[in-house]
Amino acid sequence: MLENLTAIPVPERVLIVYAHPDDAEFFAGGTLAKWAQAGAHLTLLLVTSGDKGSGDLTLLDGQQLARQREAESHSAARRLGIQEVIFLRGRDGEQYPNLALRRHIARFIRLKQPDAVMSSDPLLRYRDSSRANHPDHYAVAEAVLNAVFPAARDHLNFPELFRDEGLAPYKVAWLYLALALEPNYRVDVTDTWQDKVEALQCHASQVGEPAAFAERMRDRFDPIYTLDAEHPRYVEHFRVLKLA
Ligand SMILES: [Zn+2]
Repeated sequence: MLENLTAIPVPERVLIVYAHPDDAEFFAGGTLAKWAQAGAHLTLLLVTSGDKGSGDLTLLDGQQLARQREAESHSAARRLGIQEVIFLRGRDGEQYPNLALRRHIARFIRLKQPDAVMSSDPLLRYRDSSRANHPDHYAVAEAVLNAVFPAARDHLNFPELFRDEGLAPYKVAWLYLALALEPNYRVDVTDTWQDKVEALQCHASQVGEPAAFAERMRDRFDPIYTLDAEHPRYVEHFRVLKLA
């Protein structure tokens, strides 16, 4: 289902909230690069540092991996034009949409006052007949949804945020959910696809050999919008909620 939401303005301030260091680039990298190039200020809040994202059996403790992945995140953020990266350093694979996580996210919404929040769709549990969604993705997505409304908006939610830190209630205007079960908005990211690929290549611990990865990404063009093979077109889809 795609409604006509083509007239959404480029946001001025964006808070991006995801579970793992490479999620923003994979799910929305083309759109984020586009916004950055149009002058938006982007802040990335990462709930974990991806301390379990490895198949290397010689690695028995994820702490060193987490530090490496934080460094990769900073490089990728620079490549995309994300100005600030914040790590909550929760444990990879153990996220749950509890009140503590909701509070963390609501606090950053009030602090950063974004007009758009970017996350993913909490309803996506699996896709097609062969892919399961990572539980951290939908746990964080659900906490984001609950933080945007009502926790960040109404001052009696986590009243200490206002009382002790002076963080006033804040209404987010736009919520963008990647990995959407029912997308209603598409962004043509052909012009920033290369930015997305190069940002992802910064995640060396995840994407493997750079040239082979670039090749796989080249094949991800959208067959509906690609009219001839010489000029592939790339698209990212979202569920967009207009909340204010
Ligand atoms: Zn992930």
